[in-house]
Amino acid sequence: MSIYQKFGLRKIINASGKMTVLGASAVHSEVAQALSAAAMDYVDIHELMIAAGRKIAQVTGAENGCPTAGAAPGIAIATAAVIAGENLTLVERVPNTDGLKNEIILQKGHSVNFGASLPQMIALGGGKVVEVGQANHVEKDHILRGINEKTAALFYIKSHHAVQKGMQSLETIVAIAKERNIPIIVDAAAEEDFKYYIASGADIVIYSGGKALEGPTSGLICGRDDLIKACHMQYKGIGRAMKVGKEAIIGLMTALDRYESKEDDSQGQINRMNWLINELSNVPGIKGSLVQDEAGRDIYRAQLTIDEKIAGINAVALVENLEAGNPAIYTRNYYANIGIINIDPRPLLMDQEKVITSRIREIISECKRKEKK
Ligand SMILES: *Cc1c(COP(=O)(O)O)cnc(C)c1O
Repeated sequence: MSIYQKFGLRKIINASGKMTVLGASAVHSEVAQALSAAAMDYVDIHELMIAAGRKIAQVTGAENGCPTAGAAPGIAIATAAVIAGENLTLVERVPNTDGLKNEIILQKGHSVNFGASLPQMIALGGGKVVEVGQANHVEKDHILRGINEKTAALFYIKSHHAVQKGMQSLETIVAIAKERNIPIIVDAAAEEDFKYYIASGADIVIYSGGKALEGPTSGLICGRDDLIKACHMQYKGIGRAMKVGKEAIIGLMTALDRYESKEDDSQGQINRMNWLINELSNVPGIKGSLVQDEAGRDIYRAQLTIDEKIAGINAVALVENLEAGNPAIYTRNYYANIGIINIDPRPLLMDQEKVITSRIREIISECKRKEKK
């Protein structure tokens, strides 16, 4: 019995991804042990924050780092840092930044909801979001004309939530930022590559600790030393309301250690998903294929196309059936409305792909039986 069932909650099989609503990541036992050992002891928090910053810097290749309670707090803290810097009087005034350089430029197709509103997180850090261009089309000129003497930073998001076409590239934004001497903040919350954005010239990069890193609920900011020192300073301001605990910091550091020595497991993902596709190949109305992540990450999922006429059930109803069962199975269903569901191998615990295939078989044959009656 899992700890969640002990408290009366349903068992969940997560085939959906690193989803905050399903608890993001199930951490490795080494990380879990680190969390528990840290929770049962004392530490000088200031020293811990500095040590975590050094660890983050080492893994990301940045000058310095700052641990956070998540990527969303990281957005608010980084925004406050570029506006208030290390000036305690200003730090204590955020999110009221009237009269300061407080405008944050965001391409309209990057103004998204990642589970919560990105512009709201920027506003929480005292940033005034200036959206440029249109939702599906931004030209370099839109960005250039958005810049004025009140511009505090350019903000770039790398995410499947963002519009993938018609936006200006990171390269272009970095070039503008360098030319105008404005910092660029990158939200790379769910990205797998912890070095790429720093190496590409971003001044501040934000990651989630609970996604690709498979750490506990936490996050990290990395980047230029002066800006990261300003991030640390925000813990005397708005950061206090988003405090990251000692156990989460140690869990994060342990996950960073593990990440450095992690082998590529994409072949394992491919094997598991090919097994699942093959297992479902004789189920009427379901066609499976292996697809790579839509944002180009090294993730391989099984894509199931449901033909309602043959299967006797559409993808949306299949998803509902899977989620209503016990254990509840959550698939990746952004495209269920057009008959497609995806199975994400990353969050699956051992042998759960077998539970998924047998449950799908069961649901389809149930539909067939009803049809015959
Ligand atoms: C998940 C996500 C966040 C929030 O991350 P948390 O660690 O849950 O706070 C922010 N931005 C993007 C693009 C995300 O995908």
